[in-house]
Amino acid sequence: MSDLGEYNGRPIVGTGIIIRNTGDGLSKAMTVDPRDLTIGDQVYVLLEATCVDMHYPVEDPKYPAIGGVRRIPVLSAGTATFIDEADASAAIQRQKEREREHADKVSGQVTISMAILAAEHDDGKHAKKRVPGCEPCDEEARLEAAEADAAREAAAIADAEAAAEHADDEVAAARGRRGGKRG
Ligand SMILES: [Zn+2]
Repeated sequence: MSDLGEYNGRPIVGTGIIIRNTGDGLSKAMTVDPRDLTIGDQVYVLLEATCVDMHYPVEDPKYPAIGGVRRIPVLSAGTATFIDEADASAAIQRQKEREREHADKVSGQVTISMAILAAEHDDGKHAKKRVPGCEPCDEEARLEAAEADAAREAAAIADAEAAAEHADDEVAAARGRRGGKRG
């Protein structure tokens, strides 16, 4: 499904990085190549790093239909160096374009998954058990929950009315007793 492959049967829908060891590695680079920086300055730092671990956290439930995971390599930072904005901005621009392309691809996959689920639903394949992420199934679940809420509310109102009627009976009975004493 995803060109990033799968992990434990789940499609990998995104990636990221965690960078460790930045305190030591980066501060060493800053010592070697000092810059007169002030707050608000924007700089570009080229970082040499080694992949030392891999994490696969579950992606946000915004893709429930495909149950995707993210692939997060953990990097250990090595040497860092400042680079010129001109060199950096071309690379950052290319990266932003790739991110947009990836987002389009993933949302396309979600659309396809939703269509497949809807077709399965229409074939009655979800009749025994609702499939989370299937829009018609989710809609049925919402309706059922709303009906249950309405039934609970009606029962609560009926209880309150019965209690009020009982209280009226008590008042009437008390009045009856008082009236009896007087008479
Ligand atoms: Zn369904």
